Amino acid sequence: MPRRILVLGGGTGGLMAARELREHLRGSDVEITVVDYKDRTEFRPSYLYVAFGYRKPEEVSAPLSALEKFGIRFVRAHVTSIDPANRTVGTTAGDLGYDVLVVSLGAETVDVGHPHTWELGPSLKAAEVLSQFRGGRLVIGVHSMPYRCPPAPIELAMLAHFHYLTRGIRDRVNITVVHPMKRPFENFGPVAARWMANMLREMGIEYIGVGQQTAIKALGRNELETPSGERVKFDAALVVPPHRAPGPVANSDLAKNGWAAPRVPANGDFRSEKYDDVYVIGDVAAPNVPVGMAGTILHSYMPWVVSNIVADLAGVSMGRPPFRVVGTCAMDVGGFGMAAACDFTPFVKKAKPYPDCMFLPPSQAARMFKEMFEKMYFNWLLGVVP
Ligand SMILES: Cc1cc2nc3c(=O)[nH]c(=O)nc-3n(C[C@H](O)[C@H](O)[C@H](O)COP(=O)(O)OP(=O)(O)OC[C@H]3O[C@@H](n4cnc5c(N)ncnc54)[C@H](O)[C@@H]3O)c2cc1C
Repeated sequence: MPRRILVLGGGTGGLMAARELREHLRGSDVEITVVDYKDRTEFRPSYLYVAFGYRKPEEVSAPLSALEKFGIRFVRAHVTSIDPANRTVGTTAGDLGYDVLVVSLGAETVDVGHPHTWELGPSLKAAEVLSQFRGGRLVIGVHSMPYRCPPAPIELAMLAHFHYLTRGIRDRVNITVVHPMKRPFENFGPVAARWMANMLREMGIEYIGVGQQTAIKALGRNELETPSGERVKFDAALVVPPHRAPGPVANSDLAKNGWAAPRVPANGDFRSEKYDDVYVIGDVAAPNVPVGMAGTILHSYMPWVVSNIVADLAGVSMGRPPFRVVGTCAMDVGGFGMAAACDFTPFVKKAKPYPDCMFLPPSQAARMFKEMFEKMYFNWLLGVVP
């Protein structure tokens, strides 16, 4: 009987794990299956480009059927339950068994009735709002922490600034960010927070930092209220919705505090707390690591996860790759790119209060890198360039 690796989620973590495991276990009697309810995987950072009309949906997504050419089976189905005690995953295509389970189901968003750029469908609605907006107050609100890619709402505000500047109506548009963090980028440390606050000021972007996990207590068509009772009126709003773990994870034995619980992430052990044969990675586990939800963080610790699984299945040690938790965010700040690269390793190990961050100031090279990475992402994971 072949050994079975079952990967839940065909997003960043699931694809990375499936492809790297296939390479390392080529020639062994191991079957790899990826399950996702979508038939195309999406490059989420480019939702922002969809909202500003720079990209079409088919340019920021690629078919998961491309996995087959690498000898990886793709099952299009909803995962409905995870029963690790019986090594069974319930799906709309029937029950699936496994010898090793990799859970990378990401986070799901809860609709709050306003468009946003945290999923593809709502990004198309955001595109309508942004293109029809002719003046007044545009709020970019973040409902609550955690959410995917902490810097992205700031990037969205800067892109909006650039968008209306190039249309010659910036003086008629007020851009306000309402955010749980008291100061922008404060999770990257005080220097980064001061730097970002100055950048926003220079662009004339107002920042309302609520200083609580939830920034928006009540949300209407043209007004929001913060937990302290401050009311912010607006003519249009894009609101980063609340994120939560998908139901099959939250309702399973894999969850702690609502999110998947890795065993000792500070030492690179991403097995589930309770089950040796289950690995929980990516956004679905991020709050329990604890790190922000970022695909690049997955890139940094994936070699560690893969080497553990190969050792489990093939009984061969690939050696211990250096363990690092590093996140990179390439932001488009309006015609120029800017990048932040943070090493969260000392933070995750509780050795430092902040990650060690490095910032690349706005440049054309950083923007080119951002655009190139989108293409490289699909080519690397699926062998296609949409
Ligand atoms: C606007 C934006 C900008 C971003 N910018 C950056 C950036 O600059 N740098 C960076 O590092 N990260 C960035 N990210 C974050 C990055 O996209 C995520 O951290 C990354 O995709 C997480 O990978 P994952 O595998 O954990 O989850 P995902 O990539 O979300 O994959 C989860 C998969 O599981 C599937 N799924 C969920 N539930 C089920 C179910 N019940 N049944 C079947 N399938 C299911 C989903 O369809 C999805 O394909 C950004 C995200 C957004 C939204």
